[in-house]
Order: sequence, then C-alpha cells, then structure tokens
Amino acid sequence: MPSRALDEATPIPESRIAHFDHEADVVIAGLGCAGACAAIEAAAAGTDTLIVEQAAGGGGTSANSGGLLYLGGGTPLQKALGFEDDPESMFAYLMAACGPGADEALVGPYCEHSVEHFHWLAGLGLPFKEAFFPDSHEPPGDESLTHSGSEEAWPFCEIARPAPRGHCASVVGPKGPLLMQTLLAAVERARARVQVGVRARALVLGEDGSAIGLVARHRGEDIAIRARRGVVLTAGGFIHNAEMLARYAPALTRCRYKVGTAGDDGSGIRMAAAAGAATLRMDAGDITLPLFPPVSLKEAVLVNRFGQRFVNEDAYMGRTGELALLRQEGQVYAIVDEPGFVRPENAPTEVAATGDTWGELESELGFAPGSLAATMELYNHHARGGSDPVFHKQPRHVRPLERPPFGALDLRAETTWYAAFTLGGLWIDAEGSVQTPTGEPIPGLFAAGRTTSGVAKQGYSSGLSLGDGSFFGRRAGRAAARTRG
Ligand SMILES: Cc1cc2nc3c(=O)[nH]c(=O)nc-3n(C[C@H](O)[C@H](O)[C@H](O)COP(=O)(O)OP(=O)(O)OC[C@H]3O[C@@H](n4cnc5c(N)ncnc54)[C@H](O)[C@@H]3O)c2cc1C
Repeated sequence: MPSRALDEATPIPESRIAHFDHEADVVIAGLGCAGACAAIEAAAAGTDTLIVEQAAGGGGTSANSGGLLYLGGGTPLQKALGFEDDPESMFAYLMAACGPGADEALVGPYCEHSVEHFHWLAGLGLPFKEAFFPDSHEPPGDESLTHSGSEEAWPFCEIARPAPRGHCASVVGPKGPLLMQTLLAAVERARARVQVGVRARALVLGEDGSAIGLVARHRGEDIAIRARRGVVLTAGGFIHNAEMLARYAPALTRCRYKVGTAGDDGSGIRMAAAAGAATLRMDAGDITLPLFPPVSLKEAVLVNRFGQRFVNEDAYMGRTGELALLRQEGQVYAIVDEPGFVRPENAPTEVAATGDTWGELESELGFAPGSLAATMELYNHHARGGSDPVFHKQPRHVRPLERPPFGALDLRAETTWYAAFTLGGLWIDAEGSVQTPTGEPIPGLFAAGRTTSGVAKQGYSSGLSLGDGSFFGRRAGRAAARTRG
C-alpha cells in the first residue's frame, strides 16, 4: 500500500473541483531560485502570477546555499579578469563533465545564452566584483569569480579550454542569502503574488490531460487554485525524503550530510509523475567528498581499499566524491606524508593509520602486502620529475610523498561527511515544458530547478544547480505565460 507521502500527489480531474478558491494566469509551486526566476519572467510577460510556498517565506535551499552560479561563454566578469571563454568551450566542458547522458537540448541553450543570463542577474541588482579567487572552491571573501568544477583537471583540460565559471555575488561568507534577497525583491517589484504556508499537493487536470491548476493544503484545508495559462513546479529535489531516496537513489542514503532543506521532499516530482510525467536519472546526485580546503590536500594521494589510485586528486570534489562513492564503494583514504599532514577543513576526518614505511601503513589499513607500496613507489618515481603520467594531476599539485611518518586520512562514507543532493527529476525540454515518457509535452505543465533533471545528469560542477534552476526557471515562467494565451 503506498504511504500517504507518496499517495497525496494523485492528480485530481477538473470535474471533481466544485469551485476554485483562487485563480491566476501562471501558478508556481515553490519559491526558491527556480520559482523566483519563473515568477519574475512570467510577471514581466504581463501575466497575473501567483506563487504558493509551503514554508513561512521564500528562499528554500537556495537561500542556504553557497550562491555560486555556473555561468560563462565570455561574461563581462570573465573578460574583465582576463579569462578567455566562449559558448563552444563551455558546451564542450559541460557535455563531458555532466554525463553520462548530458542532454544537448539543455546544455546547448544554457551555454549559448549564459552571458545574457549574467546580464539579467546583474540587472536585478546582484553585485559582482571584479576579483578572482584562485583556490577552486567557494570564495570565503567577496571575490565574484572562481574555478568551480574540474575545468583545469584531466581529462577535461584536454577536452575544452579551461575557464573559471563559478560566479557569485560579492559578499563575505555564503552568497546564497544575498542571491535570494535579490531575487525575492525582484519578485516583489514584478508584483507577482506570493502565498506562504500553502503546500501544493496535486495537479488538477483538464479533460484532455492538461494541467489547469493545483490543489494545495492551507491551514489544514484543501484549496483549489486555477491556472488560466500554466502551472510551474519549482519545489526542489528529494534528498530529505528518506522513502524516495531509498527507492530511487539508494547510494545517496550513505551520504551523511543531506544537502537541502525540509522542502526537498520530492513533492513536485511526485505530483507531475502521478500525472504522467517522465522522470530521468532519479539515482543521480551531486556527491561531494570534502577533501579541500585546504587546497594543499590536492598533493595527497587518494587510494581505494586495494591501495590503488582511482582519480587525479585535483579534480572537483563532486567528481572525486562520485567516483569514490559509486565506483569505490565509498572506501577511500587520502595518503599524506609528514609535511603534507593536515585535515580537511569542512568535514570531521579521522586518521585511519600511520606508519614510518608504506608497509606499516598498508598493514594497518588491512591492504594486501606490497599494494600501497607499489602505488606510492610509482607515484613518487614520477613525482620527483614533477609529473603524474597515470592520472595527469596538474604539476603544481604534484610532490613526492617521501618524509615519514606517513598517514591515511579516513575518507570512508561511514566515517566522514559525504555531502549529497539529488539531481534526478522531471524530464523537461529547453522551454521547461514537462515531458511524458514518449517525449510529448504535458500541456500547461512546466518545471525547473531540482524538481527536474537539468544540465548535470550525473557529473556535477559547483554552481550548476542555481545556474540551471535560475536559467530554466526563467524559461519555464516565460513559456507558461505564453500558454493558452
Ligand atoms: C550549504 C549549501 C550550499 C550550496 N551551494 C550551492 C552553490 O554554491 N551553487 C549551486 O548551484 N548550488 C548550491 N547548493 C545546492 C542548491 O542550493 C540547490 O540545489 C538549489 O537551491 C535548488 O533550487 P530550487 O529552486 O530547485 O529549490 P529550492 O531553493 O529548495 O526551492 C524550492 C522551494 O519549494 C518549496 N516547496 C517544496 N515543496 C513544495 C510544495 N509542495 N508546495 C509549495 N512549496 C513547496 C520549498 O519550501 C522551497 O522554498 C547548495 C546547497 C546547500 C544546502
């Protein structure tokens, strides 16, 4: 028997609605970055726009985030800071890094119109400062540009010309709050109506199967809301729905840090799926292994439970995390020597073993005799010449690990914090239109953000969630405004 949490999404035929309590041209469920951007555009197109938000205010996970937006193709900020980029390089990187199964239909327009999207965000008042942060993670200071993916790391540096594409508002500390303050202020200026404390729970379908409204829960009662033009679902992902996670993305249940807020319970996905929408890659997630900061830990050597390397350690933490959890069973260690010993700043990390020789270390870790020693001998042999011909770590992060005592930082999923949020969700086209399993749009139904499977089908780079949520949120809002017009 389905649980109530799964059952509440069953769509309701129009014939069962005695009267609609509210009406608007465009009705949006969820006021995070995707919903705000949909609302701003739908209202700008001249429609009466209503957003229902289950929490006491807008913001969602977006307001709790780091605030990086993956933008590029030659933004004014990239240019001012002396970085060359173009839509083709951005496209080549994202098609390689966001798979398997990256969708040209989404990645293409995302890259082609990224500069315009930057201008739009700046035009709303999001402050960008011409300052670059070089350390490949969210700037702790007020710099607005950084490398936020694996652009400079192998194999991607050979596939596309690297460029930093992590853009963020210029503010010290997390940038998500300012991003959402800016978007919410724009929603207000656009005169989109917001009703908080209202939880959308099911779609209302017309006789032809088109989405014509929502049934929502407000103060313990069901209310019906008619959408004269379109319904947009921007209700976040499902990392906080344990039942859905176990069913669709069981590997992510092992990640101890669930990246999201209570609203990430999959309600938007379930509502649309129950009405015939297709979902894509429901198993996918951003899986971060928080190895750095400090960036000096890129000099460490990551090994699996067989004492073998499996990745270049300078790759983006979402890539090392994905490979560690999904391909190495989450059983990995970072090998360091005495000068390189430091713990990751963002995750509690124990020392699994220490030793004065590789033999002592591998024995304490329970590895086969000679396995780690062979790995380190090969690594150090090439590192003395400044290279890594096996995994092509960039020379600036390559140093022979030769000075004992040696140590193994415990990066097993059960002992440190793998951080995850879901990337699977509704199948949308480039206009945010929700698709059926046969690739037909469901009339009147649109979606964006983590309710959808977006640019990152599995492989992730930081900034892609706010990036594609805001980008396709805008498109979904515009398309909903055009519907039945
Ligand atoms: C600490 C942290 C740092 C992060 N850093 C980054 C970063 O730097 N860059 C990046 O791209 N991503 C980052 N992320 C991930 C990113 O924040 C989210 O993936 C993104 O905000 C999702 O946006 P959204 O609009 O889809 O959902 P949300 O922002 O979560 O908005 C969804 C809204 O819908 C509401 N809602 C849910 N269900 C219903 C319903 N049934 N009816 C009505 N309302 C509903 C929710 O309450 C919520 O307000 C970070 C996340 C965290 C937690």
